Amino acid sequence: MTLHIQSQVSLKPFNSFGVEVKAQLFAQAHSDDEVREALAYCADRQLPLLVIGGGSNLLLTADIQALVLRMASRGIRLLSDDGQRVVVEAEAGETWHPFVQWTLEQGLSGLENLSLIPGTVGAAPMQNIGAYGVEIKDVFAGLTALDRQTGELRDFDLAQCQFAYRDSLFKHQAGRWLILRVRFALNRVDHLHLEYGPVRQRLSEQGIEQPTASDVSRAICSIRSEKLPDPAELGNAGSFFKNPVVSALLAAQIKASHPGVVGYPLADGQVKLAAGWLIEQAGWKGFREADAGVHRLQSLVLVNYGAATGLQLLALAQRIQRDIFERFGVELEMEPNLY
Ligand code: FAD
Ligand code: NAP
Repeated sequence: MTLHIQSQVSLKPFNSFGVEVKAQLFAQAHSDDEVREALAYCADRQLPLLVIGGGSNLLLTADIQALVLRMASRGIRLLSDDGQRVVVEAEAGETWHPFVQWTLEQGLSGLENLSLIPGTVGAAPMQNIGAYGVEIKDVFAGLTALDRQTGELRDFDLAQCQFAYRDSLFKHQAGRWLILRVRFALNRVDHLHLEYGPVRQRLSEQGIEQPTASDVSRAICSIRSEKLPDPAELGNAGSFFKNPVVSALLAAQIKASHPGVVGYPLADGQVKLAAGWLIEQAGWKGFREADAGVHRLQSLVLVNYGAATGLQLLALAQRIQRDIFERFGVELEMEPNLY
């Protein structure tokens, strides 16, 4: 047995909200074998198992009565290269942003808009991570997951993952699939996505008219660093709510009473509203009660000023949800995974 299992471990360093809860048992898996060991250990004792990566999309509301298994597997490899399209595979425990940097250093484009997203490679498909007009589904080439029900390995292609806006099959079948490694189809020739408002503008401010993928990555890192709190300094889980997708009728009604509402028409006729705008309009920006609050620059981000509990953060989120529904008739869905 190589898996090192500890009991009563504080999860504070393992969730970006910095919430203080304990794991009954805790271990880190560096390989497929250690993952299987953890599953066997739990099966023998009829103990639940909770897999985590970087803990940057979690809201922990109580001690976790389970074996918490943190994915710590490492490895990045080139699987194929036809001179233009390159398929790269990374282990689940690889940290996302250094992995993106590695691809850029190899001269590969595709992941630059997803720079500086916290977390691990293995969690990225869970909610089809997205930013600045690109989602993981746009560069996805497959993944390998372990079926926790049968112990079998299964490869998933793009269609099988059922990726949607901050959503996937894995989110719907939570607890069934343990993602071991993910493959990405990247390009030796840059196909850049600059259409997302601030990106082109930031590059222009820097005097860059013919950007490379690395230029785009640097621009996005600088925009993000200005707007988003660093979890190392102020606990948070990024956007706490998804942007709500509403009917064109409801969007028009909101626009009639609030002409400044920020919305983006979707191909299916519905409209994606900026949840951050709704929350700010309702006066929550900068709100603080005890140590739970709404960030002063970005109202989509709930923050922990130090000693907030998961339940306090959840209560604040629910107050915001009720208020937004009463004011605008819009239901906000939470993005982080609640335990
Ligand atoms: P965790 O929080 O550890 O886990 C998330 C979920 O995935 C849990 O349900 C967990 O059980 C499950 N899980 C984790 N690893 C595995 C695995 N190997 N197999 C199966 N299930 C697994 N998200 C975006 O989409 N776009 C952004 O721009 C963005 N910006 C952010 C900025 C900040 C400051 C923060 C704090 C968060 C941001 N996020 C963003 C959210 C978060 O970074 C992503 O969702 C990220 O992919 C979570 O990775 P993680 O390893 O931390 O996952
Ligand atoms: P922003 O640029 O202030 O824009 C506000 C919202 O409007 C965003 O949520 C975005 O939706 C939407 N939007 C802006 N331009 C758009 C366009 N051209 N087409 C369609 N939708 C557009 O957003 P921000 O809060 O600073 O975040 C920047 C990017 O990073 C966003 O993509 C955001 O999703 C991502 N991000 C995500 C998290 C997270 O935890 N999930 C945290 C921080 C940042 P989308 O969100 O759909 O892109």
